[in-house]
Amino acid sequence: MAGVPVRATKRGPQKTPLDGSHDVLICGASFAGLAVARELAGSGADVLVIDRYEIGERQTSACGIPTEWMRAMGLMAAERQRFDSLLMHTPHGDSRFRLPFTFSTFDYRELCEILWRDCDAGFETAKVNRRLRAASGERTIPVETDRGVISAPLVVDALGWRRMLASGDGYQPPDAPLSRGLEVHPDGESKDLEVWIDRRYVRAGYGWSFPAGDELRIGVGSFDPRFHVRDTTELLAEDLGSEKVRYQGNWIPHKLRGATEGGVFFAGDSAGHCLPLSAEGIRTALYFGIALGRELRGVVEGRQSRETAARRYAEFNDSHEWKFRWMLRVQRLVPKIPPRLLGPLVRALGAKRFIDWSFGHYLQIAPPEFAKPSPNDKHGPRQQQGDSEHPLGAERDLVEAEKA
Ligand SMILES: Cc1cc2nc3c(=O)[nH]c(=O)nc-3n(C[C@H](O)[C@H](O)[C@H](O)COP(=O)(O)OP(=O)(O)OC[C@H]3O[C@@H](n4cnc5c(N)ncnc54)[C@H](O)[C@@H]3O)c2cc1C
Repeated sequence: MAGVPVRATKRGPQKTPLDGSHDVLICGASFAGLAVARELAGSGADVLVIDRYEIGERQTSACGIPTEWMRAMGLMAAERQRFDSLLMHTPHGDSRFRLPFTFSTFDYRELCEILWRDCDAGFETAKVNRRLRAASGERTIPVETDRGVISAPLVVDALGWRRMLASGDGYQPPDAPLSRGLEVHPDGESKDLEVWIDRRYVRAGYGWSFPAGDELRIGVGSFDPRFHVRDTTELLAEDLGSEKVRYQGNWIPHKLRGATEGGVFFAGDSAGHCLPLSAEGIRTALYFGIALGRELRGVVEGRQSRETAARRYAEFNDSHEWKFRWMLRVQRLVPKIPPRLLGPLVRALGAKRFIDWSFGHYLQIAPPEFAKPSPNDKHGPRQQQGDSEHPLGAERDLVEAEKA
């Protein structure tokens, strides 16, 4: 059936018991979790990464990112398409913005595999249930999974917006500050990165089409979690003459949260690291994941205590709070703009000086210079294959639609 994921996750008798203790336990093997693991490579620490799916098995986004981030992390082999402009549609006219830096779309599975290649951690598929209470005086943190209890003194929650290893503060849609996004992945080609600001698709939010070689990623994101995006995602796909197949969707946090809690470290969507307004969360998941990995490396190499790492990482996280707050303010302004003003406004904002200035500041929220090659690059200088053609993976993730 179209749209149903092929699960490689262990089932039945394959699900052998899994317990024991490690130096570092990283829960979640997507952008944030893999970035943390990669920074720990070569440190000698016993690191275990767990996820309910195999690495790269289930795509979690449209996979669009500033090209420089891919280049800085040696991920260019996963690139599928590159864009130097953004075509913006409003009901009252279209504008093409020349971007001061390019964006790329990539293949999720390949990108995860490249990140993983630079790690020397162990990996197991396991579903995380919750964090258990540590025995008194015990510094290791026990985490309950469907395959047993795993403990470590350093535990990372990179599990996405649910923030499973926190105390549980009732942060649930539709009341929590979460956006919702859904997309379809039909076959197709286009040379344009496109965005729609059009209330026909969503009152507060935007629609998009991100081409990635022989596939389009067409979706709608709503800043209002009560707005169901399924119908209008399908409407946009129909308007573009594309098939409604291979759904992918999720809640998207749009507010920064605490970076640590009860000894656990949070990175990526679990810490609200996705940027408001643009809902760009890959770059920031990598960025904060790298920052956290560096702090944890200081602990496993005996250069600092867990408490110092927690304090330093929390300070780093909090130093970004005002930038996230500003972007959230702009996000809240969008639905208040009268539709007839949208076209002229978008055209006015398209002035080169403004685009260069605003996108420059936007990139600096998580700049690509922050990513340096893995400390344990066992593969020598990474091949930068960005300008050559890449074999398009024959196998693509078939992912189930999140019920919008
Ligand atoms: C439709 C859509 C399109 C998007 N497009 C873009 C885009 O083009 N560019 C961009 O920058 N951002 C995009 N985003 C946002 C981006 O996907 C997220 O911000 C980003 O994936 C966050 O990375 P992460 O590593 O924190 O979490 P995730 O990528 O969500 O990974 C979480 C991991 O945890 C695992 N997991 C979850 N729960 C459990 C559990 N209980 N047990 C075990 N494992 C578990 C999951 O399997 C997954 O591997 C999009 C979001 C949506 C919904």
